[in-house]
Amino acid sequence: MPPDDPDASRRTLMGGLSAGLFAALATPAVAQSVAPPATAPVSDGPRLSDPRNAYPRPPFPAQQQDPPGLAGAMDPRPDHGEQSYRGSRKLVGRKALITGGDSGIGRAAAIAFAREGADVAFNYLPVEEPDAREVVRLIEDAGRKAIPLPGDIRDEAFCTKLVADAAQAMGGLDILVNNAAKQRSVDHLQDITTEQFDAVFKTNVYAMFWITKAALAHLPPGATIINTSSVNAYDPSPNIVDYAMTKGAIMIFTKAMAKQLAPQGIRVNAVAPGPIWTPLQPSGGQSPDKLPKFGADTPLGRPGQPAELAGIYVLLASPDSSFATGQVYGAVGGRGGP
Ligand code: NAD
Ligand code: MG
Repeated sequence: MPPDDPDASRRTLMGGLSAGLFAALATPAVAQSVAPPATAPVSDGPRLSDPRNAYPRPPFPAQQQDPPGLAGAMDPRPDHGEQSYRGSRKLVGRKALITGGDSGIGRAAAIAFAREGADVAFNYLPVEEPDAREVVRLIEDAGRKAIPLPGDIRDEAFCTKLVADAAQAMGGLDILVNNAAKQRSVDHLQDITTEQFDAVFKTNVYAMFWITKAALAHLPPGATIINTSSVNAYDPSPNIVDYAMTKGAIMIFTKAMAKQLAPQGIRVNAVAPGPIWTPLQPSGGQSPDKLPKFGADTPLGRPGQPAELAGIYVLLASPDSSFATGQVYGAVGGRGGP
């Protein structure tokens, strides 16, 4: 073989591979014994874990906070992946805006996106500043830019400014996560005030509409939008009728916008969580007497933790899911959902 023939060694290798393949077909036992080792030692990976007891199970201590509540005041504290999420460069250089990024599912997405290499702008209410400070530190610890943008998304002018500020601070925008929400448990329709109905729809539906509308001016082909819907879009609880209606609207907005934006190369998907241990629940989302048993009625027998959803947001944000658009990804502990 001439030493200056660059393809010679490749031809030799391919020939060897063909022979090896033939041998594998003929004698599978021998082929297995010569299979290349796995890329990483088994001890480096996560351990096999039983989903039933991977995280805290009910009963939980009785507890209540004023809405919107703080993750830092919950017992037990939710797990947003602070200690566990390990990135693998799936979102390097990406620019994400997450609403409700201070706590719960939004915080889990913020931590994961940053550890995957993205800069993260996030919105929250000014009273949630203590939670937001922790998220800023977590994003910066991952070596990424954190842009905290407090304000009330029930206001259209604020939503427009939120998107403009995020895009300006990051030099663009290519991941939008519409995740903030209001949920208030009321047993009877007669007791849902027009004021509550309006606030729930403004927070969960109008803000998503206003923010998405403003974001379109910035999103390039390859960008992704991820909306947080709920198991309630499919199997509604009777005590949160107004909230469940908004989650159905979010699901169908996702599917319609996926069709509208596919010709521009922008994907739109949603996540439909089941019961997740976040401040939404002890701050009016559940009735106080039901909270200690929160999640007990799922087949897995416990609520999910925000950290258990992080990988789903990363998957939908990254090109790994490039043929998925208009989809709703459920993580419900075994019942309901898409
Ligand atoms: P969370 O309380 O941690 O997050 C909700 C966030 O919404 C708050 O942190 C707050 O910043 C934001 N928000 C509320 N009103 C706002 C307003 N007027 N202006 C700006 N921000 C406002 O709770 P979470 O459970 O992580 O909620 C995130 C998403 O997950 C929501 O869309 C919720 O409907 C959805 N979800 C939650 C569960 C669950 O069991 N926790 C289940 C299904 C879906
Ligand atoms: Mg919060």
